[in-house]
Amino acid sequence: MKKKVLLTPGPTNIPENLLGVLGTDIVHHRKVDFHNVMKELNENLKKIFKTRENVYVLTSSGTGAMEAAVVNYFSKGEKVLVINTGYFGDRFRKIAGIYGLEPINLEYEFGESYKLEDVKKALAENPDIKGIFMTHSETSTGVLNNVAAVGELTKDTDILLVVDTISGLVANEFDFDGWNIDVAVAGSQKAFLIPPGLAFLAMSKKAGRAAEKSDIPKYYFDIKQAEKAFESKSETPYTPAIGLIIAANVSCRIIVEKGVENIVREKYELRKYIEQKLSELDFKILVKDEENRSNTLISVVKDGIKIKNVIRSLEERGYTVTGGKGDFEDSLMRVGILGEFSREDIDEFLAVLIEELEKQ
Ligand SMILES: *Cc1c(COP(=O)(O)O)cnc(C)c1O
Repeated sequence: MKKKVLLTPGPTNIPENLLGVLGTDIVHHRKVDFHNVMKELNENLKKIFKTRENVYVLTSSGTGAMEAAVVNYFSKGEKVLVINTGYFGDRFRKIAGIYGLEPINLEYEFGESYKLEDVKKALAENPDIKGIFMTHSETSTGVLNNVAAVGELTKDTDILLVVDTISGLVANEFDFDGWNIDVAVAGSQKAFLIPPGLAFLAMSKKAGRAAEKSDIPKYYFDIKQAEKAFESKSETPYTPAIGLIIAANVSCRIIVEKGVENIVREKYELRKYIEQKLSELDFKILVKDEENRSNTLISVVKDGIKIKNVIRSLEERGYTVTGGKGDFEDSLMRVGILGEFSREDIDEFLAVLIEELEKQ
């Protein structure tokens, strides 16, 4: 079967060199070969997140790390602010509610970023807010939220800033220490270009102190266990996805060698190219302001046709792109560019897209 081209915001196609690594034997997770992998992986993850602190590796999808970000740093009944700019922002609201926090839901229109005045107002009206949850790159819409501006509000306070950068990291600028972030989570199947199954969690010293006081029950995702195992032995508390960790190590080594800034620029240029081409085909870009557009994907709407049918035809012709939900089910198309794509690859895709649009 011909390989499908995954023009999605994760999972991505796996590059040949990483497929090769995934096809190799594993090592034992309580022995020195594994310790060496974990040490190198941690050093490169620190460079990718831009932090001096250790970055922990969890065997779960990204949502597992979102859950870890709730259960480890907060206590029941605590008030938190959720900046909800889409499907994934809403997931934080749900997880926080399930664990007995009191989320204040700051919700925005589909395709819009948040407004800083609203965050300031919520903080002024609720001096007992303990944390702010936000999504860096909102994959359901293509919105890129300004994390640094919120970090300016939470730095030098006891409020924790928790950021889902699962689809944002590597494709967009990110600065864990510089933006005063306390907890950030990422996932292996997005810009790391390896299969799903690993999540990465960075935490500040301030978050570490909050973890000492948290009263929410946890076992598998207890970050203090992860900290202890890594700091004492360069291990994880339980058997991790060893094969994926070996691949993540090679992936992160490649990302650091290439330079995150270079990858961000490459994705930016590819996004601008696709935006222009799709505009010429009468698509409208969902996210209005350039400064709020994520390099992870291009979200476009087209009136007058059922884009859902086009997406189905593209799938039959070897191209996987995704659509929208709810009100946007018939009109939204999301083209993800986390995978490795050249302009020629994109031109081939666009030629097929044009053929399918003409059939509508
Ligand atoms: C993919 C994604 C997730 C969910 O990750 P899973 O690996 O599916 O659990 C969460 N947030 C964002 C922004 C994502 O893009």
